[in-house]
Amino acid sequence: MRPAAKLHPTLRHFRARVRLDARRFPWLQNIVIVLVSGLVFGVGLKLCVSTFLRDNLAVCWPLVGMQVAALLRIPRRYWPAVLAGMVFSQVIAEWWEPIDEVLVDTFCDTAEVLIAAFCLPALNGLSSWIKQPNLLKRFVIWPMLLGPAITAFPVSAVFSHELQISYWRYWVTWFAGDMIGIVLWLPLGIILMSRETYDLFRWKALPLTAGLIGIVSLASWAIFQSRSTPAFVLMPVLLLIALKLGFSGSAIAVNIVCIISAKGTLHHLGPFGSVLEPYSVTTLQVFLAASMLMCFPISILQLERDDFERESKQAYEQMEQLAISDGLTGIANRRRFDAVFEQEWRRALRTREPLALMMIDVDCFKLFNDIYGHLAGDDCLRRIAESIRGTLKRSSDLPARYGGEEFVVLMPGTDLPGALEAAEMVRFEVEHMKLEHQRNPHQIVTISIGCWSLVPKDNMLPEALIEAADQGLYSAKQDGRNRVGTIRLAGLRQPTSKAS
Ligand code: GH3
Ligand code: MG
Ligand code: MG
Repeated sequence: MRPAAKLHPTLRHFRARVRLDARRFPWLQNIVIVLVSGLVFGVGLKLCVSTFLRDNLAVCWPLVGMQVAALLRIPRRYWPAVLAGMVFSQVIAEWWEPIDEVLVDTFCDTAEVLIAAFCLPALNGLSSWIKQPNLLKRFVIWPMLLGPAITAFPVSAVFSHELQISYWRYWVTWFAGDMIGIVLWLPLGIILMSRETYDLFRWKALPLTAGLIGIVSLASWAIFQSRSTPAFVLMPVLLLIALKLGFSGSAIAVNIVCIISAKGTLHHLGPFGSVLEPYSVTTLQVFLAASMLMCFPISILQLERDDFERESKQAYEQMEQLAISDGLTGIANRRRFDAVFEQEWRRALRTREPLALMMIDVDCFKLFNDIYGHLAGDDCLRRIAESIRGTLKRSSDLPARYGGEEFVVLMPGTDLPGALEAAEMVRFEVEHMKLEHQRNPHQIVTISIGCWSLVPKDNMLPEALIEAADQGLYSAKQDGRNRVGTIRLAGLRQPTSKAS
C-alpha cells in the first residue's frame, strides 16, 4: 500500500486544531457535521431531482448510494449527526410538499440508507473491502433487494395515490430506481473515497483512463441522442473498461452512462426515449442494471486474478530463494556456489583478473557432535556461517555451505595476499566467538582454512582453484588446525590442465 500523502504544514496545523477543538466542544463538532452533511446532500438532492426525476418517477436515485458510502467511510459515532443533516436537507428541499409525503419519503430514504449501512462492512480500502467475506451476498440481499423492496410499500401507498398511477407501477419504479441508485452509486461513492482509484489518474495511467472514459462518454452521448443506434453497442466498451481499468474504472464508466442515458431518455431521446411512457424509465433501468451486472463481476474477478498473480510471483520467488540457499545456515548452498563459480571463472578469464577461494573446515567437529549432540552441532554450524557472512566486507564475496561442516568463500577480483588477509579475519572471528568445545585442543570451536587465488588461463579447468584451496586446507590441518594454509611450495602441483 502507498504511504499516506503528506499534508501541507498549514493544513496539518489546521487539522490538529480542529481535532483539538472537536475534543473540547463535542456539541460544536456535531453541529458542524449536521451542517456540512445537510449542505452536501442538499446539493446532491437538487442534482438528482434535475437529472433523474420526471413526473415524480426516478430513473435511479443516486443519493441513497452516496449516503450509504459516506456512512461506511466514517465511524459510527458520527452517524446520527450525518443522518440528521441528510434528513434536515430533505425536509427543507420538500417543505412546500404535503407533510405526509415529506415524512414518508424522508423516513423511507433514511431507513434504506440505514439498512444498507448496517449490513455492509466499514470501508478502509477498496480492495480489502471488496474481498470481505460474503460481501456480494450481504450486498444483494439487504441493500440491493430487501431495503428498496420494503420501503417501496409505504411510499407507494402515498405517491401512487398522489400521481394517480397504479400502486404496483409506483412500487416497481421506486424499487428499481433505488436499487439502481444503490447498485451503481454506492460503488462509485466507495471508489471516490479510496486511494486505489487515484492510481487511474496518475501520469502513466492517465492516457488509457482518459481515453476509455472519453470513448464511453462520447459513445453514450451519441447513442442517447439518436434513435437509430441500439444501446447494446456500449457493452463492448464497458467490457473493455472492466478488463483494463478494473472496478474503479467500471464504476466511473457505468455512472457516466447512467447520467447521459437518463438525461437523453427523460428528454424522449435515444433508443428508450420512444418507448411508451412510463415504460421508457423501466427499460432504461433494466439496461443500466444489465450494464452493471456485466461490468462489476468481471472487474472483481480481475482484481482477484491480480492478487493471485502477485501471490504466485511471491511464492515463485520464495521457491527460487529456497532452491539456492542452504536450509540449515541460510547462506548459499552448493548448487548456488557451483553456478556462481562457473560464471565468475568465465568472467575472470575474460578480464584477466584474479579469482580467490577459501575452503573452510570446522576442526574436530565429529567430537563436537559426540559431546554436545547433533542439534548443538547444527547450531554451531549456523553460528559459524553467520560469523563468516558478517566478516566478509565485499558484496561480491560469496560464502556458501559446501557440504557437511565445510564452507567455501568465493572472492572475485582478489589476489592471494588479499585472500589470505580475509581468511585470517574469518578464522579470527570464529575463534573470537569462543564457543565451548572440550575436545578441541584450544577448548573452543576453531576452523581451518585453505586459501588460494589465481588468474584463470585458457588451458585451466575451474577445479584447479578448488584443488589448490583444498590442498591449502590439508596443510592447515597438518600444521595443527586453527590456521590458514596455502599450497606448500615444495609440494606445489600444477593446476589441472584441460586435455588438449
Ligand atoms: P577435522 O578437524 O579433521 O576436520 O575433524 P572432524 O571431526 O571435523 O572430521 P570430519 O570433517 O571428518 O567430520 C565432519 C563431521 O561433521 C561429521 C559429521 O558428523 C559432522 N557433520 C556434517 N554435517 C553436519 C551437520 O549438518 N550437522 C551436524 N551437527 N554435524 C554435521
Ligand atoms: Mg570435514
Ligand atoms: Mg572437520
